[in-house]
Amino acid sequence: MKTIYLDHASTTRLEPKVLEKMMPYLTDTYGNANSVHAMGREAVNGLDEARNIVAKLLGAEFNEIYFTSGGTEGDNWAIDGFTKLRGDKNKLVTSKIEHQAMLSSIDNLAPLDIQVKKIGVDSKGFINLQELKNEVDGNTYLTAVMLANNEIGTIQPIKEIASYAKEKGSYVFTDAVQAMGAIDINVKDLGVDMLSFSAHKFGGPKGVGCVYIKNSTKLGNLIVGGHQERSRRGGTSNVAGAIGLAYALKFTRENLKKDSEYITNLRNYFIDKVLSLNVGATLNGDRDNRLPNNANITFDGVNGESLLYKLDLNGVCASLGAACSAGSIEPSYVLREIGLSGVKAKSSIRFTFGKENTFEEIDGVIKILSSILK
Ligand code: PLP
Repeated sequence: MKTIYLDHASTTRLEPKVLEKMMPYLTDTYGNANSVHAMGREAVNGLDEARNIVAKLLGAEFNEIYFTSGGTEGDNWAIDGFTKLRGDKNKLVTSKIEHQAMLSSIDNLAPLDIQVKKIGVDSKGFINLQELKNEVDGNTYLTAVMLANNEIGTIQPIKEIASYAKEKGSYVFTDAVQAMGAIDINVKDLGVDMLSFSAHKFGGPKGVGCVYIKNSTKLGNLIVGGHQERSRRGGTSNVAGAIGLAYALKFTRENLKKDSEYITNLRNYFIDKVLSLNVGATLNGDRDNRLPNNANITFDGVNGESLLYKLDLNGVCASLGAACSAGSIEPSYVLREIGLSGVKAKSSIRFTFGKENTFEEIDGVIKILSSILK
């Protein structure tokens, strides 16, 4: 039985071309970028190459790019780092549908006297802009809203949010983990102070990520140790990982228009077919303003966990909302926030598509779904 992988928001396959670029740094060129000898210099050259590529692709400066261990670290760093150097301000504004990496980090602020305001979203998952505008004020040190949601794919108006928050004197952070590689992103155009993403979401290796931090932005360090990453993030540099991240982004960007058109068509084909099966299926989130790869569907009266299990038995890999909450019996808080009941939230499955998926595969999945549901 051939596996049909429809879980690209969880992770993606390491692109063979990316692995090729990484291989020298995993084998012969294994020096530590902190060493003052030829092997060390080769490692520094690799890091510089990766930083240059990423900076150009994001519209950032070379020294505004920092390599991390992934999306979770970026979210943790933003919350911890801005809070440490918040000065007299003590308000943080975010949304109710951020990733757990962000929300758990915010929970850790409990012992401090921080006023946390989580803004709600409408039935499509768009942040309540008016409420956000009412809340971001002169006391707000950080406005942190994700660029695109990992469960329903909704894309937030970050440019507008950033422009408003900056006017009020707040720093702006956006979690671009799901958006990077799926849509074009230019940090200057977005107007944010910090943005984070993770390589494994777009054909790069797992365990490596990146943050853009605009020059002159004041935030403390999260990971302390040596003087790596211009003394802002300790730990021996993961040169192969940084090269993998940079080339994965470069290759993804080269084909972005073509691939995202293809994936959108595939995704829409799937949605239309599922909705016409007459099995009580509805689409969650906005039909158009969503990530190209995302379809989150509620199957009325169906237990999502058992549907996922049956799909798996038939070779189809999908997800119950966020991968991180799979296995938990709690309904997805994102689906609850857009107004679904606990029962409906538990009847929902996230299908996320990639450029390797084919229309034949979609036809196959529709047949499988139809026979399971009927
Ligand atoms: N933020 C979002 C929106 C995500 O979707 C994820 C992972 O799925 C993360 C953060 C965490 O990223 P990582 O798995 O690289 O730590």
